[in-house]
Amino acid sequence: MTGLSDSFQRPINYLRISVTDRCNLRCIYCLPPEGVDLISRREILSYEEVYTIARAAAELGINKIRITGGEPLVRSGLPRLIQMLAQIEAIDDISLTTNGTLLGSCAAELKQAGLRRVNVSLDTLKQDRFELITRVGSNLDQVLEGIEVARAVGLNPVKLNTVVMSGINDDELLDFAAKTITEGWHVRFIELMPVAGEGGTAPRFVSASEMRKRLEQLGELESCLPSIGNGPAKYFRFPHAEGTVGFITPISEHFCFQCNRMRLTADGRLRPCLLSDYEIDLKQPLRRGINSAGLKKLFTQAVADKPLRHHLAEGYVPKQRPFSQVGG
Ligand code: SAM
Repeated sequence: MTGLSDSFQRPINYLRISVTDRCNLRCIYCLPPEGVDLISRREILSYEEVYTIARAAAELGINKIRITGGEPLVRSGLPRLIQMLAQIEAIDDISLTTNGTLLGSCAAELKQAGLRRVNVSLDTLKQDRFELITRVGSNLDQVLEGIEVARAVGLNPVKLNTVVMSGINDDELLDFAAKTITEGWHVRFIELMPVAGEGGTAPRFVSASEMRKRLEQLGELESCLPSIGNGPAKYFRFPHAEGTVGFITPISEHFCFQCNRMRLTADGRLRPCLLSDYEIDLKQPLRRGINSAGLKKLFTQAVADKPLRHHLAEGYVPKQRPFSQVGG
């Protein structure tokens, strides 16, 4: 491994791969109410193509992969991809971000294929709100069961991602936080990013410092070492709690200067920053027969072009794609 770094000397070792733009939920903060155009199936990378890109990336210095979407578990045969990626020697951590609705039935197979960990997005513990936030009549119990099955089969630590929205689910902050004490959950509260739909408007925003203040009703939050993750969250613990409370602050305290990630979209574009439209196409070169050296050159170019930081605070919102295509 040579080690990969961008033009600001940030080490880059993490690739998030979106395997589909399809999702079985329609979360209000992620997708606009009118929906989005879907990428045609033949434009979506095959598992073999994903593997080829991941192998080239690993030879450059990528050693962590996260599978995301859309909803990655709606794509059939995902354990086969996990198994292929797990065979790449330099990759030592494969994780998954999912809405959890389909997790219960495949967690064991994913674990066996080589998946290490899972993050489950869950914004409410109430069924009626689950329907409001996800815009579909899906069953919250299925997600809760998925979380328990994932923990039981050892996809640990299972982390929960909760986007906090004023007037929608911010009154559940304490309920989620209490689960870190009673159930040992690892809950990460995410600041709402203004990228889509009615959930993305400024009045819904709750800063992490405001969330923290409200959580103090449950006890004093003690800072923990970042051993639970190497991503952007800052972790805390209530005294004697087995689980942790994390805060992800893309707005109030962006973490771009520590960003170590690249993203591969479902249609094969390498995107250095979630919140910038800049991408380099890998799919066409791949389908025209580019060799591994050529692929690595394109990957290195995209890394070199990684922007220093996002500009959400200045009002810049990426225009070309919804999160469901990039893999939020
Ligand atoms: N379907 C999977 C899931 O639900 O986890 C993976 C894709 S989803 C786009 C990935 C993550 O992006 C989720 O944790 C979701 O909460 C987060 N996300 C999407 N839109 C967001 C927004 N406007 N602000 C903050 N987080 C957002």
